[in-house]
Amino acid sequence: MDLLDTLTAKGLRGEVPTREEALAVLATTDDELLDVVAAAGKVRRRWFGRRVKLNYLVNLKSGLCPEDCSYCSQRLGSKAEILKYTWLKPDQAADAARAGVAGGAKRVCLVASGRGPTDRDIDRVTDTMAAIKEADPAVEICVCLGLLSDNQAERLKAAGADAYNHNLNTSENTYGQITKTHTYADRVDTVQKAHGAGLSACSGLIAGMGESDEDLVDVVFALRELGSDSVPVNFLIPFEGTPLAKEWNLTPQRCLRILAMVRFVNPDTEVRIAGGREVHLRSMQPLGLHIANSIFLGDYLTSEGQAGQADLDMIKDAGFEVEGAGEATLPRHRADLAEAAAAAHAGGSCGTAASACGSGGGCGPCGGHAHAPDASASEASAAQEVQEAQEDAGDELRSDLVKVRRRGAGTELAPNA
Ligand code: SF4
Repeated sequence: MDLLDTLTAKGLRGEVPTREEALAVLATTDDELLDVVAAAGKVRRRWFGRRVKLNYLVNLKSGLCPEDCSYCSQRLGSKAEILKYTWLKPDQAADAARAGVAGGAKRVCLVASGRGPTDRDIDRVTDTMAAIKEADPAVEICVCLGLLSDNQAERLKAAGADAYNHNLNTSENTYGQITKTHTYADRVDTVQKAHGAGLSACSGLIAGMGESDEDLVDVVFALRELGSDSVPVNFLIPFEGTPLAKEWNLTPQRCLRILAMVRFVNPDTEVRIAGGREVHLRSMQPLGLHIANSIFLGDYLTSEGQAGQADLDMIKDAGFEVEGAGEATLPRHRADLAEAAAAAHAGGSCGTAASACGSGGGCGPCGGHAHAPDASASEASAAQEVQEAQEDAGDELRSDLVKVRRRGAGTELAPNA
């Protein structure tokens, strides 16, 4: 197949395909699927060998968010019966992180619900990172706290954070249909602030929210242009009690095509299968490892994943190996770009070869955050939206596939790692 030969050749050279080629991957048939996976697998092995990077999520603060992201079980007006708790103490977070690292995770992802951190929140996360690094100085820490204000990325970097996660989630065109309390431009601004401060940028997408192929291709090219070092590919977990509860429109085959398209557009970038792996890929998960080089170990923020040991068994059975703490994730040329960005920031200059600069230093557009709408009006409209979605969803709700997290951080039960 000419398309796959072309994409493989480009991927092996680290070149990005055309938009039309990326769209063509999404349009391939089920008969062509194994050829698509094999082609993406060659590109994956060229840059990442057979290594699988394990990442471990610690939800520092769960639920009660004032934002209205339609896909999120922690959103304003969510009726999802998730765990709700405020900030974990540093030692509690460090305990949870330790379990993930003991299970093989190389990176710990510290996440808190909310629009964005206060300066006090940055202090809390600073203390938490110190507690984690005291126990294991080699662990990578990625922080995900929402929209950043000026100088917060710099403070996180100085406190020892390695990366900052902020997903673009969907295309600029459709962003307004998914979230009304902040904008796509706000999200881009935060990714640029993180990158501009010398933090590795982790930014990805959510597939399965009713978007078109064009939307998926748009967001994946945007992530490439932003210079994201790791691209988490989430498959929507349609939580009962959220407006997208009825969006069950992904198949394992569709998920594999999406992963392959992301890999071809980001041949030398970490591609991570993120939330929804078990729910949507199901028994096809091992094929995803031939395309992506990174997954989360164990549970997600508000839902349970398969047992951590099942993740490790799957990696081994599929002929892959867990990436060790001493191994570099990114190929040398990509790591050099990240180091150059950090050095440029430390030296007071601005910009990287891979992305525009938008740090607070004045080199780029520094979009202000959208104003949050009146809280009580928003809450009423969010609740109505959820109610309507529930009524529409009827028997499309799949509570058998979506299991709310009841163990690990914020509970008395041991973490799944
Ligand atoms: S800002 Fe984050 S926690 Fe809040 S609703 Fe959006 S995705 Fe969920």
